[in-house]
Amino acid sequence: METKPEIEENIIEVINNKYLKQVKKARFEIKNDRKNFWNKNSVNFRNNIKNLISFFKFPEKWNISIVASRFLLDKHTMPYDKDVWSFSDVVGATENQGFDIILFFNKTDLEFLSAPALLPIVVHEVKHVFQAAENPVRYAKVTIDDELSKKYEEEADGEVRKYSEEFRKENVLEKIMYCYDEEGWKGAKKWPIIYMKKQNMLLEEAMISRC
Ligand SMILES: [Zn+2]
Repeated sequence: METKPEIEENIIEVINNKYLKQVKKARFEIKNDRKNFWNKNSVNFRNNIKNLISFFKFPEKWNISIVASRFLLDKHTMPYDKDVWSFSDVVGATENQGFDIILFFNKTDLEFLSAPALLPIVVHEVKHVFQAAENPVRYAKVTIDDELSKKYEEEADGEVRKYSEEFRKENVLEKIMYCYDEEGWKGAKKWPIIYMKKQNMLLEEAMISRC
């Protein structure tokens, strides 16, 4: 019997140690020179994603293709818009088609973020890769099964919570500040409202399922 593919736990401490130092640096730059901070992050985006991904040893026999791009939308999109999601999906899962998973990072709501702020989304998507590899047939049903989707999402968020809380805070802070710089207070308020709605929804669902 094949063993369940798991993310190695020993990388958590290594990642926390390495990237917590960068949180401090990022906070200083957010305060002092944000324009340069956003620019530098988008120049480093590709490498930041590659470096973060490099900590994870993906499940055996699976080929993981990583895409970092944006949808071809002819409209101005912001991090709080609905059209900016990232995803992990199974492309093939048979001997004939090969065992392929695609991991897509949407640049629209990510490329301005620093490496520590990118960490939660990378860990979340990597967890999906492991879920997909564990049971590709079940994972493929996610798009038409809300219960299953909720379970997988909770699991992926749970994986993120194994790392320092500072990374999630950094992600929230940078997104709000970016929206503020792009669209003023009006934009800055939109993102946390949508974020909180999502968090409350998850919380309510979690409470109902435990009743
Ligand atoms: Zn997800």
